[in-house]
Amino acid sequence: MNIVPDIKTQRIAIKLKPSAEKMVKRGHPWIFEKSILKQSIKGKAGDLAIIYDNKKNTILAIGLYDPYSPIRIKIIQFKKAAQINSEWFNNRITQAKSIRKPLLETATNSYRLLFGENDQMPGFIADVYDSVLVVKLYSHIWFPYLNWIVPHLIQQSGCKTVVLRLSRSLQTESQTYNLEDGSIIYGSLEKEVVVFKEHGVLFSANVIKGHKTGYFLDHRHNRKKVGDLSKGKTVLDVFSYAGGFSVHALAGKAKEVVSIDISRQALEMAKDNASLNTHSGRHTIMVADAFEGLQGLISKKKKFDIVVIDPPSFAKRESEINKAKNSYVRLAKLGAQLVHKKGILVLASCSSRVVAEEFFEICEDNISGYGRSFTLLDKTYHDVDHPVSFPEGAYLKCAYYQLN
Ligand code: SAH
Repeated sequence: MNIVPDIKTQRIAIKLKPSAEKMVKRGHPWIFEKSILKQSIKGKAGDLAIIYDNKKNTILAIGLYDPYSPIRIKIIQFKKAAQINSEWFNNRITQAKSIRKPLLETATNSYRLLFGENDQMPGFIADVYDSVLVVKLYSHIWFPYLNWIVPHLIQQSGCKTVVLRLSRSLQTESQTYNLEDGSIIYGSLEKEVVVFKEHGVLFSANVIKGHKTGYFLDHRHNRKKVGDLSKGKTVLDVFSYAGGFSVHALAGKAKEVVSIDISRQALEMAKDNASLNTHSGRHTIMVADAFEGLQGLISKKKKFDIVVIDPPSFAKRESEINKAKNSYVRLAKLGAQLVHKKGILVLASCSSRVVAEEFFEICEDNISGYGRSFTLLDKTYHDVDHPVSFPEGAYLKCAYYQLN
């Protein structure tokens, strides 16, 4: 397959400062620029960085060199030497697929086949939507290897079309080998909007223009759970995007569902997604800032049986952590006022910088601080197609509280 021209890579011998060496020995995939002690040659994007033990001179790990990022080396192979070739990538994908097997046995044809670092493919995402595979690259390191990787992805996923998405930083930097965000690199795409199934419920995603790869697959298990709880209930879905939770609730026979999002376009998708499924519940969309929208509903004394609050990542950088925590405080308080007696408040966070324990503590302090006692029904983390292999890889947490 000829997606990119033949890009020659070289090998760079690397030695690390002791603290970084310890991290690599523990299986951490990131090596920052400042942790490199010695480097045999100046590297280009995608060059193989062979990391040697400082004392024993044995191979500790193999990474890909990224001159454009402060995370200068991203590790793909730990502990022992290996030939990084087409077969190596095929083995990686086979292993990744085997972890997802239980999910693929459900009524689901949308899943994340490769989840970056967590599948030893740093900055490389592969999402499947029915017969369309969306590859999203977050780093230049992958261009030299695309001709090897993509055929294996096609073979193992059975997809007929491959769309390439590029992160914003890749779109602005120069060398992308004539590839653009949204390029079709295999097969053809009849429509930008692809219909797929998630635990028996139909959805659609715009794989060319949608956020990330078009849809947020990570909450699948929580959406199913909310769907299962929704029969005959009234449900409020806050930060609903394309209606993930709303549509599962409707398909689960909710009586009424209200979806709130600041983006009208997202809510139009939610409407479209709802109409792909048979349901008799009433679906209302509310274009609003969530904080204001929730306050408005409280003023009108509205209450729901189930309230789901799944905001975007509030802490994209270190300096935003306190502000993010404060937003979680506000959302827990607002949510607590909108749930009927014995109703359920579902609170989620996707900020990896706010760890699970801290997030749950914020939720619990502020529900009870609001004068409502609760029973914790469940806490959930990542679905099987989003494995976690290092601390920064864990971002998703969600709690189910029944309020008295
Ligand atoms: N719950 C969704 C994913 C949420 S993504 C799912 O299951 O798929 C975050 C969403 O929050 C985006 O759709 C974005 O438009 C919306 N958003 C961001 N800031 C907002 C705000 N202040 N008020 C309401 N919605 C907001």
